[in-house]
Amino acid sequence: MLTEIVKKELKRIVGEKNASFSKENLLCYSYDATNSPYMPEAVVFPTDAKEISLILKMANSEGFPVIPRGAGTGFSGGSLPVEGGVVLSTERMRNIVEIDTENLVALVEPGVVTWELQTEVEKSGLFYPPDPTSLKFSTIGGNIAECAGGPRAVKYGVTRDYVLGLEAVLPTGEIINTGVKTAKGVVGYDLTRLLIGSEGTLGVITKAYLRLLPKPESVVTLLAVFPDLKGAAKAVSGIISAKVIPATLELIDSVSIKCVEAHAKLGFPDAGAILLIEADGNIEAVRKESETIKRVCLENRASSVKAATDKYEVKDLWKARRAISPSLLKIRPDKINEDVVVPRASIPDLIEGIQEIAKAKGLLIACFGHAGDGNIHVNVMYDKKDSKEAKAAEDAVVDVFKLTLKLNGTISGEHGVGITKARYLNMELSPASIDVMKRIKNVFDPRGILNPGKIFQTDKETSGYKA
Ligand SMILES: Cc1cc2nc3c(=O)[nH]c(=O)nc-3n(C[C@H](O)[C@H](O)[C@H](O)COP(=O)(O)OP(=O)(O)OC[C@H]3O[C@@H](n4cnc5c(N)ncnc54)[C@H](O)[C@@H]3O)c2cc1C
Repeated sequence: MLTEIVKKELKRIVGEKNASFSKENLLCYSYDATNSPYMPEAVVFPTDAKEISLILKMANSEGFPVIPRGAGTGFSGGSLPVEGGVVLSTERMRNIVEIDTENLVALVEPGVVTWELQTEVEKSGLFYPPDPTSLKFSTIGGNIAECAGGPRAVKYGVTRDYVLGLEAVLPTGEIINTGVKTAKGVVGYDLTRLLIGSEGTLGVITKAYLRLLPKPESVVTLLAVFPDLKGAAKAVSGIISAKVIPATLELIDSVSIKCVEAHAKLGFPDAGAILLIEADGNIEAVRKESETIKRVCLENRASSVKAATDKYEVKDLWKARRAISPSLLKIRPDKINEDVVVPRASIPDLIEGIQEIAKAKGLLIACFGHAGDGNIHVNVMYDKKDSKEAKAAEDAVVDVFKLTLKLNGTISGEHGVGITKARYLNMELSPASIDVMKRIKNVFDPRGILNPGKIFQTDKETSGYKA
């Protein structure tokens, strides 16, 4: 429990209006996209690293948890105050400090929404590629802390590939600067990379130097329609083996198509599966790539491959793609949303295996996602209130993870471990790897006050997954 002295001090640090203790406000910061709420005891809205440093120093001396939070769109519970304490929201740290058009670098605060940064840099003919499907809401701080990917990762990589340097506040309150503002830099250990993907457990990111690219000259958006999922999955690996790396290569199965259309009628055709593909670059290269993509899709029994004719059609197709995740809940009240990755050539085996698991467990499993980089969002649909179905859903997840690892994949490509995957960590990582990670956490955060209860199971539940 936070003492009255701590509450008063929090108000003094961030200002009376920027610390809230009311139940109504706390409720708004008690959830993320996992839909499993935990109430914080306070929420604060600092404006800079100095305020955050003071909060963390007090958290150390008084022993209360602090949980960094961007927009709360996380899918693994990373921003949830599972042990109570203070939610530290970056909502008021929303400045794009600089867009350096000579050096192609942007300096931003962590609360900047991804879409806002993209729109802003595009005004100068530049391009910030990381594009989580949540980009209209999620923040740069949240993207860095989760190392978010997105449809464009197939060609452009993930958030990690665009972070040059960071300003961050350590859990003990020191403000550090990591990395460089230059294209290269190798001085000392790479603390930037350690903080990226650390899920708000090693430091609070307060500024980021981000690498920008020139905006591609042209983009073509293609919609390939398939009678079944297998053909679409084969086309994904076929396109890559044809040595074409499209800017995006999204796979959408029939369950997802039906859900979106029932929910919003956004123009996806009724089909066994579709691929939403984009090729970008100079006009001639895009033309050649589009032709190869069309050929490979038709060779894999696509019934049609069409290019979007104008920007409105492109916008609608992406709106439909972004609507899949929320619309799935229209068919079943609950879902377990996993984001496994396999080597791209193994996509057909993964899809086939998931269909077998769904059949064996008597469950509906919707698959969609960034298939071009091997990342499939596997949504196990069920009803929490039906205990038999809930157990079958959990078992199905374990089977999907086993299959993924057998195919040399990983159990999370973007969503992170948080609380939802902590118990499965030992399926992928060895005891030695987990141990060194715990020791790193201890060096950064000896009192365990920053985002406790995440990634690693607590001492009471150290057993993890048992085969
Ligand atoms: C519909 C939908 C689609 C999505 N699509 C994608 C996708 O395509 N790709 C993808 O990768 N993810 C996707 N996600 C997941 C999510 O949007 C990303 O993980 C995103 O990066 C989270 O950003 P956020 O600002 O909402 O962070 P939050 O959810 O608020 O926090 C996420 C984690 O980051 C930490 N954190 C936040 N800010 C900071 C900071 N300043 N310093 C240190 N730690 C911090 C938090 O403590 C927490 O652990 C999707 C989510 C939804 C709901």
